[in-house]
Amino acid sequence: MIRFTVRSLMLNRIPRLPENQVIELQRRRLQSIVSYAMKHSAFYRRKYQGIDPRNVRLETLEPTSKSELMAHFDQVVTDPNIRRADLERFLDNPANEGSPFLGRYIASHTSGSQGQPMLILQDRRLAELMFGLQMTRGNARKATPIEAARRLISPARLAIVTLKRGFYPSATVFESIPPAARIFMKVLWLSQTDPDVIDRLNTFRPSILTGYAGVLEELSLKAEGGQLRLAPELQQVVNNSEVLTDRARLRIESAFGCHVMNNYATGECTFLSNGCSTDSGAHVNSDWAILEVVDAENRPVPAGTPGSKVFITNLANRTLPFLRYEVGDVVTMATEPCRCGSRLPRVERIDGRTADTFWIQDGAHYRQLISSVFKNAFDYAREVREWQVTQEDRNRFLVRIEVLPGASLDEPHLQRVLHRQLEMYRFRDIVSIRTEVVDRLGPDPKTGKFRRIVSRVGPPSDLEQRLRIDHGHDIARPLSVTNQASRSALPKAPSP
Ligand SMILES: [Zn+2]
Repeated sequence: MIRFTVRSLMLNRIPRLPENQVIELQRRRLQSIVSYAMKHSAFYRRKYQGIDPRNVRLETLEPTSKSELMAHFDQVVTDPNIRRADLERFLDNPANEGSPFLGRYIASHTSGSQGQPMLILQDRRLAELMFGLQMTRGNARKATPIEAARRLISPARLAIVTLKRGFYPSATVFESIPPAARIFMKVLWLSQTDPDVIDRLNTFRPSILTGYAGVLEELSLKAEGGQLRLAPELQQVVNNSEVLTDRARLRIESAFGCHVMNNYATGECTFLSNGCSTDSGAHVNSDWAILEVVDAENRPVPAGTPGSKVFITNLANRTLPFLRYEVGDVVTMATEPCRCGSRLPRVERIDGRTADTFWIQDGAHYRQLISSVFKNAFDYAREVREWQVTQEDRNRFLVRIEVLPGASLDEPHLQRVLHRQLEMYRFRDIVSIRTEVVDRLGPDPKTGKFRRIVSRVGPPSDLEQRLRIDHGHDIARPLSVTNQASRSALPKAPSP
């Protein structure tokens, strides 16, 4: 506990250091991880042949991609005991949720929102780092020794509301809260599909509420409607993983009466940034991660200009190194210094990962069908290389699928997982889905961008009015919660 506390308080100093000191720290850690990767990973040894890791410069490293890392997975990892086939078998079994892979690794996969999911392994030190950063830089209250002592007496109450459980990077990391961190916070972990989510939040009275933007917006409707009452205990709302639109931010802030801290991270680097406590956007944790905003030709893009994609370098993950790893997010860095006092670079906008939703007509109401329903289903279809969902009519969808070379689509299995997802959110009987296998799914000829989620009908024109009508209407409560044991708190969390 003392080690965790001291390390966390040290993490808190970094944002106030002069920029060159952080860059120096970053440079040393880059050298160290590149050396390690070249020594222990056959893939990186080959890829970075001719590079001297002691004098490495970031821009001389060839970028990496998901398809490349997945294709050579067994050579990428630095522990020879790790085999992709074993890991996939492990992840296929829901009974393994919350258990470490090979007794020591936190295993997860990305959501597949960007095509084929990436498999991820991290050791427990990474979970400790993520929590340390969350409790210091991601904390609206200043992390001081006095604050730490106060937390010992009165632990923070963290409520995490996720869309669903499973092997998602954020979910598995929350399953692995380090014992030392648990002393400082009580955790309630809910799935949005838990039938009594509102009652349990009302009873728990969180000081911090964490969730995806879409989930937080749903909850803010409940707060506006008076069913969810979290004031005055609630101090902080944290958005993870999804784009927070200005409209959603305003609604959440006004419903809960506190600032939304908007984290930007990926499964490959869960501690990439922490939401700013005063302004929009998030500060990159550039002592432990490097975020490069680049154009389509991999050239750096200046702050203030949106890039075409980003490269992410995780300086802490030695098991599965991510070095200049390409992610298709459209990110704009801030040009102005921040009012919060942090000198770490600030991401101002993220435009690439819209929380796509479809509006479905259900009798006299409209309901939101979150596109994750499709993403979740495709997590279970590993033969699929790419997919695209088109809302052709209000309640009618076409799913176009491109399978991996040499594979063939297991159509009955896909229909089953799609129906299971739709049933969970009570859409099964009101929407129809047609699937079609195509040779190649390409980018939109007009924009040159591939769109996984397409709607030909858009939202209903009187959206705001409909939302009000929908207040008392449970948007995403499932009829039957299959395979989703509802747990009130982390199973291994001792009472502080
Ligand atoms: Zn700031």
